[in-house]
Amino acid sequence: MVPDIQDQDVDAVVAVLKSGMLIQGKKVEELETNIANFLNVKHAIAVSNGTATLHLALVALGIGVGDEVIVPAFSYTATANAVELTGAKPIFVDIDLATSNINIDLIKAAITNKTKAIIPVHEFGLACNITELTALAKAYNLFVIEDAACALGAKESNQFVGTFGTIGSFSFHPRKAITSGEGGILTTNDDALAKSIRQLRNHGIDTSSGKMEFVTAGFNYRLTDFQAALVNSQLKRLPSILEYKNQLAEIYFNELSGVDSIQLPVVSANKKHTWQSFHIVIAAAFNRDTVIEKMKESGVGVNLGAQCMPAQVYFQNKYKLNCKQLFPNALTAFEQGMVLPIYERMQMVDVITVAEKLKTILMR
Ligand SMILES: *Cc1c(COP(=O)(O)O)cnc(C)c1O
Repeated sequence: MVPDIQDQDVDAVVAVLKSGMLIQGKKVEELETNIANFLNVKHAIAVSNGTATLHLALVALGIGVGDEVIVPAFSYTATANAVELTGAKPIFVDIDLATSNINIDLIKAAITNKTKAIIPVHEFGLACNITELTALAKAYNLFVIEDAACALGAKESNQFVGTFGTIGSFSFHPRKAITSGEGGILTTNDDALAKSIRQLRNHGIDTSSGKMEFVTAGFNYRLTDFQAALVNSQLKRLPSILEYKNQLAEIYFNELSGVDSIQLPVVSANKKHTWQSFHIVIAAAFNRDTVIEKMKESGVGVNLGAQCMPAQVYFQNKYKLNCKQLFPNALTAFEQGMVLPIYERMQMVDVITVAEKLKTILMR
């Protein structure tokens, strides 16, 4: 998949380069305003990538050594890595195979007196029953950091994800719907948190007194202005990109529903999916890697979806969790899952071709 960079996007970047004002300036401010308006949230704070967003969110909430943070067992590893980087401990919870999202029924049992926050992931762009999750978090007095890296524009009950929790976190990596190369943005309705995040992203500098004061030990997680210009330009196309991807997904459903060996994603009626990825899980009777290999031989680029994080080398060495026993669905999604192509420049007829090829391979 190649990101769809158009002439006007390039022009926007070049204009910034020619202006000589390269780092966090007017275009970053514009991006923050655009995203805040789009999502209908009070504050949006742009940073250097979608892992820095998670790290900053945790630090701003004061989470660190001795704390526990609940994360789904199935996600891109950045979700759990960000927790590790603060010194806190990620507590993995299994997912629901039909949605690839955290199983909320299992969260309660994972809460201890050390738990400070939950990081639900809107995996592949599908909202994770965030209304129910935030209600649970509230009952236990826990922060919610929504990892919405894949889910800019996703909705639950007509509200954008990233606006339900304490903080929302988005990525503008080239694999996401719109991109700044590297980039990310945090969202919150909390004024004090927004102020703290702004300081932490820029060396701990506070300028509210009119002077430049170093009030905390911060990071340099700034975004450049030319990156902001690139994503600002693409943001105008986001609604039509999401609309088109929903149409492509519909074709996959028409073509693949009823195929016994394929578990298709289940999207309830109150959700609007971004279709960052069209993730399917194939039956255990099939070797997933062989299926991917055959798809590649027939000219279709099929990829892996996300990781069973506690099964990865670092987490295995550190926590030695028995994933088969503890996270059977995350392990199945990791071992039998694959992502079918779905992108802005894909033709509808190509979706049918991909589905036909997959069906042929799965017929044996
Ligand atoms: C892409 C992604 C990230 C990380 O974003 P980067 O901008 O690449 O750092 C984090 N979490 C999830 C779920 C992602 O898909």
